[in-house]
Amino acid sequence: MQSLAVRFLLLVLAFATPVAAELVDVGRAVDAARRAGLRILDGAHLALATDRPPRAGDGLAEFPAIFDAAVASWCGHFGMAPHDVADWKAFGCLVVDRERFRAAGLLPETLPEFPNGFCDRNRFWLMDQSSPAYRRHLLLHEGVHAFTLTLRDLATPPWYAEGIAEYLAMHRLEAAADGLPRFTPTPLPDSKADVEQLGRIESVRTLRRAGTMPGLVDVFATPPTDHREIAAYAASWAAVACLARHPAHAAAFAACERGPLDATFTDRLAAEPSWDGGRAVRDFDAFTDELDYGFDFARSAIDWAPGRRPVGRETREVDATRGWQNTGLSLVMGGTYAIAASGTVRLGELSAQVGQPMTALESEADGISLRWYRGRPAGRLLAAQWVERPEGGGRPRFVVLATGARCTATAAVDGPLYLKVNEPPGELADNRGAFTVTVTP
Ligand SMILES: [Zn+2]
Repeated sequence: MQSLAVRFLLLVLAFATPVAAELVDVGRAVDAARRAGLRILDGAHLALATDRPPRAGDGLAEFPAIFDAAVASWCGHFGMAPHDVADWKAFGCLVVDRERFRAAGLLPETLPEFPNGFCDRNRFWLMDQSSPAYRRHLLLHEGVHAFTLTLRDLATPPWYAEGIAEYLAMHRLEAAADGLPRFTPTPLPDSKADVEQLGRIESVRTLRRAGTMPGLVDVFATPPTDHREIAAYAASWAAVACLARHPAHAAAFAACERGPLDATFTDRLAAEPSWDGGRAVRDFDAFTDELDYGFDFARSAIDWAPGRRPVGRETREVDATRGWQNTGLSLVMGGTYAIAASGTVRLGELSAQVGQPMTALESEADGISLRWYRGRPAGRLLAAQWVERPEGGGRPRFVVLATGARCTATAAVDGPLYLKVNEPPGELADNRGAFTVTVTP
């Protein structure tokens, strides 16, 4: 029986010192699986043992090739050369009946109870799933754990360990020239079809609507026990996606990832010379506020410049290809401002039916009634401010003050006015044109 002090010390050591991980002997594990009559799917970087009966079209035969392609993309993320991992191999168990693996000595009694998946060094287990896409995602999620635990000695706080596993596992399959499905990473999914039934984006939006989405500081402090909830995975994924891709934070994040992935990871990120913690918190809130399929920081990153008071009537162009645009005009809380917009923008192309010719959708600043986004017509001019303490609670967000070609905005706070054309962030790229907008105090 250990004393409390000794137990505490052991606990600290368990988190602070990555045990020089001795790799699991994949050859021996494969032999044990064969002796137990389990099916083996073998590739360069993965041997997968399963008791799942073969079924036509289940996609399992492609798992090793998909895993090998994923390993190559993970190497790219961490700046490693393929020859650095030439000899690296993981042993995975895709489990229908835990007892068969236990009897074969492939599922130690010492493992904690896990509902979906678990990773120990270069071996991992995943429970079989009814959704082929989720089964594949889980395989790759545990694969990232095996990769980072053994090749990068990962011992970071949980937000990064789980966030990076989600971020690097997200993918879609594309048919290659040889007819076989090809692994294509989609760390920020372009469309629902990329990640069928995964729901990370939906999960962030649900948390946002409920006012329970965590901020970046909360995500950084996520305790390990919280990663039994889908919400914690979605929030950790969102934090990694935002930091890895936002132009203001990507360099600091990448520099930190090239260093040791140890318990000081979050502190070292905060100590990076280019790190701006206050801005990162705000950018993360803006990201989870606006998040949708196809989100692109090049079009939707926010300019937080404070601006100046408007002098008489001010004129601005609102680009239809960008998200929230800072007008550079700082409003006074409670003040009213007349907004008038002219011009027409093109909102991409739409065909009435599959196979029909595409027609360009044109919109004036009142929007079009044909298509709606987040409760308002697409193409409509939106005027908003960033509000740190929005009414009704929840994280800071953009609060829409007024909409349409002629409207009056009452400033919610002292701060800049933001304008944009209402459209999903993933559909901005094919837009054309701008509204000319005047703002008069
Ligand atoms: Zn995990």
